[in-house]
Amino acid sequence: MEPIIVLENVSFSYKINENSSVSVLKNASFSIFPGEYVAIIGHNGSGKSTLSKHFNGLLTPGSGDVWVHGHNTKDESKRLDIRKAVGMVFQHPDNQIVATIVEEDVAFGLENIGVPRAEMKQRIDEALDVVKMTEFRKRPPHHLSGGQKQRVAIAGVLAMQPDCIVFDESTSMLDTFGRNEVLQVMRKMNGMGMTIITVTHRMSEAAEADRIIVVEDGKIVMDGPPQEIFKHKKVLMDLQLDIPTVSQIAEIVHNEYQIFSKELIKEDELIDEVKRVSRARSGEMG
Ligand code: ADP
Repeated sequence: MEPIIVLENVSFSYKINENSSVSVLKNASFSIFPGEYVAIIGHNGSGKSTLSKHFNGLLTPGSGDVWVHGHNTKDESKRLDIRKAVGMVFQHPDNQIVATIVEEDVAFGLENIGVPRAEMKQRIDEALDVVKMTEFRKRPPHHLSGGQKQRVAIAGVLAMQPDCIVFDESTSMLDTFGRNEVLQVMRKMNGMGMTIITVTHRMSEAAEADRIIVVEDGKIVMDGPPQEIFKHKKVLMDLQLDIPTVSQIAEIVHNEYQIFSKELIKEDELIDEVKRVSRARSGEMG
């Protein structure tokens, strides 16, 4: 399968002034394949956000290359194709909303690329349906909750029909309810075949992904399925990262009582395991 995004030895520095710059990314290489659900984790300042801005050419490498569908992000003539293929959702929902009515906001990007009226309506309908915001389409966005606003922002990106959506800490400003709403939308879109990349410092969110890329000091230090990554508890702790609460609970119960698999990482898995153990116990007693 052809990758959507390829990073080849990507290094990047921010220029501070004429004489100095700060080196952030160091020789990062990996590929993102269609249909993947990838979480990028790392402590504050490790370079996650800088990395994610390379996925659609918002930033371009100082050395090395990023390819999106085989187009180099440094190629200005392909910039629009690249932005269409890889959409981004950011941290602050308020900064992403530009219109005074929900459906106009979702239409904004489509107007910019000249999508015909009839098709525009259909794309807006579908995007609002996916994020479950259809009933709010005539409302002003500033009256919505954080999670609802973020879902409107997602609908705007979704309406552009990208192959991949990058979420850069898109749940970090939201309360638990809003966060769960956005996570559900991510899962649903991935289920529909969309490639999802999520930058997060929350291990419970990273556990939802199929693949985790760990960034430290601008370098890729681990890349694998969550079950593998979360086995490296000591390495993660040295990187000021945690393992999901569910894994911690599962490990304690496993070691103390010899029940529960040690491998649990998602909340759903923990709930299923509790149910399984309870059923087995009530069976023994009955
Ligand atoms: P993360 O997303 O993991 O918190 P960032 O990519 O935001 O990491 O930041 C990585 C490093 O780059 C940090 O040291 C940060 O201070 C620095 N940095 C980020 N943006 C800029 C900028 N626009 N100018 C200069 N330095 C920056």
